[in-house]
Amino acid sequence: RQAAYAALRDVVPVSADGKRITVMINAGLRDDVANLGLTGADGIGLFRTEFQFLVSATLPARERQTRLYREVMEQAGNKPVMFRTVDIGGDKTLPYLRHNDGDDEENPAMGWRALRVALERDGLLKVQARALLEAAAGRTLNVMFPMVSEPWEFDAARAVFDSQLEFLRSRRKRVPEAIRYGVMLEVPALAEQLDVLAPKIQFLSIGTNDLTQFLFAADRANPKLAERYDWLSPAILRFIRRIVRNLEGQAVDVTVCGEMGGRQLEALALIGLGIERLSITPASVGPLKAMIGKCDVSAIREAMEGWLAAPPENLRQVLTSWATERGI
Ligand code: PEP
Ligand code: MG
Repeated sequence: RQAAYAALRDVVPVSADGKRITVMINAGLRDDVANLGLTGADGIGLFRTEFQFLVSATLPARERQTRLYREVMEQAGNKPVMFRTVDIGGDKTLPYLRHNDGDDEENPAMGWRALRVALERDGLLKVQARALLEAAAGRTLNVMFPMVSEPWEFDAARAVFDSQLEFLRSRRKRVPEAIRYGVMLEVPALAEQLDVLAPKIQFLSIGTNDLTQFLFAADRANPKLAERYDWLSPAILRFIRRIVRNLEGQAVDVTVCGEMGGRQLEALALIGLGIERLSITPASVGPLKAMIGKCDVSAIREAMEGWLAAPPENLRQVLTSWATERGI
């Protein structure tokens, strides 16, 4: 079994009809970076920086943040790392950061979290921006913002980075060679303003964990609702297809980084929607690469087109048979 795992490590994810799919991993701690080498993944498509905050008893000092980000980039070598700025609040509360003046939120997932906290407590984002910019000196920095609902939120976060960059330059400090900015698409409203957002960003990552809970108004943490919707439902698939289409021809890399992409059938469906970049849990990389090798991208795209034009009653069942018939 280990031998099979090692063999998959060196497999390049190219489909049966020659399409190269980018397969990256999700990570959050220094130790996770080793999974890059173990899986042969193309990079870290989502580095959840809040993990460092969650495992710490106090707000991590700037130097500590810088050290972590630098070590992660060094260990990743020439593979890209997409750093996501802190996504705290919601269900990820920090004892050392007061939330809403002590008031409990009734709907924390839709509450004061992620970039909403970072923009208001802008000291938090300033420190993180400085740490990321310093850590990426001489390299390319990829940074993305979580829970963006409207383009102005991106602008505000970007402005914090710009002013920190200006500060470093004025001190004649080394800065990144290039900075690529991105957003997480987790809030459905943002999908309606992609025309405004697209010229400002270089990449966009669809966070299907939050996106689906908001699309279906179904708490992702509530086990009673786990069966309420299917990732292979026409609503989700059409929604993602629309994002892909709206960004076609724009210089924006589109990745799916939620758990959905780590499941075989769901990944096949995403590829059928035109997704060419996935960032998933490391254990799923090998099986996904094997699946991609057996998959004919143009065939699944055509099939998906038909299914979404006139959705069958049970898309999961239809997709399962389609895949089985083709030995996928
Ligand atoms: C997501 O929402 O899909 C996502 C990848 O972010 P997180 O799971 O950290 O909320
Ligand atoms: Mg999320």
